[in-house]
Amino acid sequence: MTDSPTSSVFYRSRKPYPTAVRGEGVYLYDAGGRRYLDGSSGALVANIGHGRAEVAEALARQARELPFVHGSQFTSPVLEEYAARLMTFLGLLDFRFWAVSGGSEANESAIKLARQYHVERGEPGRYKVITRVPSYHGASLGALAASGMGARRAIYAPLLNEAAWPKMPRPDPTLSGEADAERLRTVLEEAGPESVAAFIAEPVVGASDAALTPNAGYHARIAEICREYGVLFVADEVMSGMGRCGSPLAIRLHDDVTPDLVVLGKGLAAGYAPLAGLAASPEVYDTVMNGSGAFKHGFTYAGHPVSVAAGLAVLDIVEREELTQRARVQGERLLAGLRELKERHPVVLEARGQGLLLGLVLGDPATGEAFGTPGIAERVAKAAWERGLITYPGTGAVDGTRGDHLLLGPPLSITDAEVEELLAALDGALEEAE
Ligand code: PLP
Repeated sequence: MTDSPTSSVFYRSRKPYPTAVRGEGVYLYDAGGRRYLDGSSGALVANIGHGRAEVAEALARQARELPFVHGSQFTSPVLEEYAARLMTFLGLLDFRFWAVSGGSEANESAIKLARQYHVERGEPGRYKVITRVPSYHGASLGALAASGMGARRAIYAPLLNEAAWPKMPRPDPTLSGEADAERLRTVLEEAGPESVAAFIAEPVVGASDAALTPNAGYHARIAEICREYGVLFVADEVMSGMGRCGSPLAIRLHDDVTPDLVVLGKGLAAGYAPLAGLAASPEVYDTVMNGSGAFKHGFTYAGHPVSVAAGLAVLDIVEREELTQRARVQGERLLAGLRELKERHPVVLEARGQGLLLGLVLGDPATGEAFGTPGIAERVAKAAWERGLITYPGTGAVDGTRGDHLLLGPPLSITDAEVEELLAALDGALEEAE
C-alpha cells in the first residue's frame, strides 16, 4: 500500500492504492503477491491481456531505432504501416489516420477538425457540437464540454460554454432505432442547423451508461439526418472500437454505416503505450488539404513512433488470435452468466451490452433508484475487489438514467474458466453488498 505521507506521488484520491508490480493475461499482481482478475481491463483498455512479451519487444526495437520525430517535420515507416493496416482492419476505405496519445486528445482533434472543415468550406457559422446526455468523451475541457456527465462536469461548468454544446437525450431502446434517432432532428432544429458543425456519440455507451446500445436502424438514421443538415457524424469508438464489442467498429454491429470521423483509443495499443487517434473521411481530409493545406492543430507526441509500434504489435495479435470474434463468443458467455446473476440478485435491474463491453444496472428493485452511501455500484465493486476481481463502477442517476452502473470488460483473450471465475466472484460480491 502506498498511502505513506512521505510519498512524492500525487495520487488521484486519498484512498490507499495497492502497488501493482506485474501483469499476465487477465491477471494483475500487487507487491504483496495478491492476484486480481482484471474484469474491466483497467478502464476497458487491456484488450489483449497483460504481459505480452512480443509487444514489449516491438516497443524496445522501435525505441532503439527511432524513438521520436515531430509530426510537423517527419513521417515514419511505422506510422505509415500502422495507418494503412488499421484503416484496413476497421474497414475505413481511404480514411486518413491521425495518431495522438489519449482519447480526450483524439476527441479534441475531432472537434477542431470538424470546425475547420466547415470554415474551409465557407460555412464559418458552423461551430456547435451536439452530443448526448449521458455520455463521456474525455477530461480535457473541450472533450468535457462535449460530455453529458453531470458528476464530472459540475465544478467546471463556468468554463464549458453550454450554448456551444446542445444535448440530445440518451438512446431509448423502447423506441424503434429510427424513431429514436429522429430526436436528433429536434435538437438540430432548436440549435439552428446552420450553426451546427458535428454530432458526436458513442455507438455503445461506456462509462456513463453501462453499455447501453441503441436499436438497429438508429445509427443509419443518425447518419442520414447528419447528411441532410450538412453536419459531420463523429463516432466516439474510444471504448467500443478495436473489436471489443465483437466487431472492429461497434457502429457497424447492426447498421452499415460509415461516419465522417471515427475516434479511437484504449484498445489501440491496449495499454502498452499511450495511443489514440482519429480516422477522417477522404471528404474531410481533402477539403482541408485542398483548402488551406494544413490541419491547424497538433500535439508534440502526435504520431509517436514507439506508441504506434505498440499499436502495430497489438493489431498483429488481435488479428492472429481473432480477438474480435473471441469478444463476441466470450461476451455471449459472460452476458448469459450476468443474466443468471440478475435472476438471483434483485439489485441487478438489468444486464446488457455487446461483445465484451457489458454492464449491470444496479438499484433498489422497488424504485429502480440507486441506494445507500456509498452507492450500490461502489459497494459491489469494493466487495468484488476484496475477492480479487476488478470492476468499473459508475453513478448513473444524476444524468437521468436508472440506478447505478457496473461495467465489465475483461481482456478479449479471457478463457472459459476465467469467465466462470469472474462470475463466481461477482456473485459473492452481490451477495455481500445487497
Ligand atoms: N471517449 C470515450 C468513449 C471514453 O470512454 C473515454 C475514456 O473513458 C474517452 C473518450 C477519454 O479517453 P482518455 O481517458 O484516454 O482521454
